[in-house]
Amino acid sequence: MQAVSDSLSLDTPLSACSGVNARLAAQLKRLGLISVQDALLHLPNRYQDRTQITPIQALILGQQAVVDAYVVRTQKISGRRPSFIAYLQDASSQQDPQTPPLQVRFFHQAAYLQHHFKLQQRVLCFGEVRLAYQGIGWEMAHPDYQCLEADAPLVADTYLTPIYASTEGLHQGRLRRLLVTLLQQVPAQAWPSISYLWPAELASPCTHTGLSVRDLSTWQALCMLHQMPPMYYQAELLANQQHPAQIRLAVDELLAHQGALQGLRRRLQSLGAPVLHADPQQDAAFLAQLHFQPTRAQQKVVAEIRQDLQQARPMLRLLQGDVGSGKTLVAAMAALAAVASGYQVALMAPTELLAEQHAENFGQWCTPLNIHVELLTGKGRNKARQATLAKLAVGDIQIAIGTHALFQADVEFDNLGLVIIDEQHRFGVHQRLALRNKSRQHTAHQLIMTATPIPRTLAMCAYADLDVSIIDELPPGRQGIQTVTLADARRKEVIARVAAACQAQRQVYWVCTLIEESDVLSAQAAEKTYLELTEALTDLRVGLVHGRLQAKQKQAVMQAFKAGDLDVLVATTVIEVGVDVPNASVMVIENPERLGLAQLHQLRGRVGRGSQQSFCVLLYGTPLSDASKARLQAMRTSQDGFWLAQKDLELRGPGEVLGTRQTGLAHMRAADLNQHAHLIPWIHQMASQLPQSQLNLVVETWLQEATHYGEV
Ligand code: ADP
Ligand code: MG
Repeated sequence: MQAVSDSLSLDTPLSACSGVNARLAAQLKRLGLISVQDALLHLPNRYQDRTQITPIQALILGQQAVVDAYVVRTQKISGRRPSFIAYLQDASSQQDPQTPPLQVRFFHQAAYLQHHFKLQQRVLCFGEVRLAYQGIGWEMAHPDYQCLEADAPLVADTYLTPIYASTEGLHQGRLRRLLVTLLQQVPAQAWPSISYLWPAELASPCTHTGLSVRDLSTWQALCMLHQMPPMYYQAELLANQQHPAQIRLAVDELLAHQGALQGLRRRLQSLGAPVLHADPQQDAAFLAQLHFQPTRAQQKVVAEIRQDLQQARPMLRLLQGDVGSGKTLVAAMAALAAVASGYQVALMAPTELLAEQHAENFGQWCTPLNIHVELLTGKGRNKARQATLAKLAVGDIQIAIGTHALFQADVEFDNLGLVIIDEQHRFGVHQRLALRNKSRQHTAHQLIMTATPIPRTLAMCAYADLDVSIIDELPPGRQGIQTVTLADARRKEVIARVAAACQAQRQVYWVCTLIEESDVLSAQAAEKTYLELTEALTDLRVGLVHGRLQAKQKQAVMQAFKAGDLDVLVATTVIEVGVDVPNASVMVIENPERLGLAQLHQLRGRVGRGSQQSFCVLLYGTPLSDASKARLQAMRTSQDGFWLAQKDLELRGPGEVLGTRQTGLAHMRAADLNQHAHLIPWIHQMASQLPQSQLNLVVETWLQEATHYGEV
């Protein structure tokens, strides 16, 4: 659709709008603003009140104020900081001999200043009132100003002045003018609006303004946020994203997101999937060789999963469970059902280390049952891989385990029935879909396991296309992990404690973190610590594992640690997910302040797996920011993954918690999953109650370019 001259549609490119030249278009693009809709959803961060004119006599230090006055004198000051000062008076200051003129100061002397601030010129100035740098009275430095005709009527702004996020070279004034123009040129009906049945708790009118979200169409809400009438301005509500106009938009956007995911799910489920039944005899043989009983919670979720697998439409299920709750066993029991029905299983892990460990566990559990488990690693055309691929394609391998390597183009399955993805937050939706497409005749069932719990509201949003099973119980006999925080200055003491622990037959992880995710740098950091520890702990066997090692080397080191042939394992965060060495009971994490809570919790979950008391030492660098302090404090207080996940969401926001880009949540422009979490249960309900045509309308309006939901 192209724009007619004075009527724009939402998808009109900004570069096609009148008044937007190439330079401005490029600046807008840097802000992520391509279409008219993008610009309209570029909402102000805050507002300035220029709706009232303050007499000079009534100015207050520190206040942001608009002054309507005229120039009585100008002055150029040379020296190291050449500046230009215009002295302004208005009726109030003229009448009061106690009030000196207001100084308007610029730290340059450009010729246009002389021109603008002519004697007796009337000017409107907006700026912060501060103590004059020289002389007496108040000044405004570099105010926004506008020259007025002497007899122009009084012209305070009608609306509050929006302040937008901007980019270098793009002035607020330019952005404001652009938005004013767009709001005029886009017809109100271009933005469809759904009338909801608002529940009272969302729609109750604000105390001061009487405004309710019920009163606003989507378009009105949008206009209000860009052009906020003083009577509806409520600073605190706006700052917390709770202004009715903000809520109105957030609801639409969340609903659009929800609708899109539901659509995805519906389309997927309309495809057929193989009906998978477990074999009771195989189950019994499998369970008999375990040296433990599945917990009640494990049994419950296995039952939920197997119920799904018996349907002729694909399962889409998210398995949530805290670190160490035994998700691997659940995955294996799901896999058994597929194998028993003659179908293949693909298990995808986020790191090679973890894939290897899964292959080992599954191998141990399944090989005695005559189930062929194989690890598929690496890329390229090496012989071993080619052989594995050939076996996979004819169905000789029943359970294939690997990393992304599993869904490269050259990987073919004979009859893939179940896809299990471990530690979901590392993978994107795209990858999920790619794997699903691997089976030709039908769609495979999908089981997605999260590394750490995801807060409920976030899960409802990010995984609206999935059913959720929760393992709400840890295997019996687990000891709590004692967590202490120590400043890096006490490193020597910590090393001594490590030595003592190893003397007492414990094994220790020492984890090195980095700010940047860089294999090279983190390998270097780990190597440095490794040298330090080998020198300090001459009696102990210290090992090193990081992402730059060859798979074989990594495996050898991990095996040695598992077998108890190493006392201390220095590692980068590659060991973060899933690694399971029950005898390791001490973990030192260097610079924990660099990590989010979920990651710390996941790391810490490597200990506390055996029957001994475990310890986690968070060895932080100083000084700590407040946010880091809050995170470390949370780690000390709690070991509950669900609680920590909620805290993480509050402290770091949804993008970080989910691992950003992948879900589309990071692209939300009006909604904020932290501030609008209370809306989500209702949105969920709305998404299933609204007529499909209306839901589609919201999705189409808000997610025009939402390619991240993938094609089905
Ligand atoms: P996660 O949920 O973090 O992936 P794992 O599957 O790695 O947890 O299991 C953690 C440890 O608990 C493993 O050593 C596993 O063998 C053990 N485990 C799993 N289920 C049980 C159970 N029901 N009873 C005792 N130990 C169990
Ligand atoms: Mg795991």
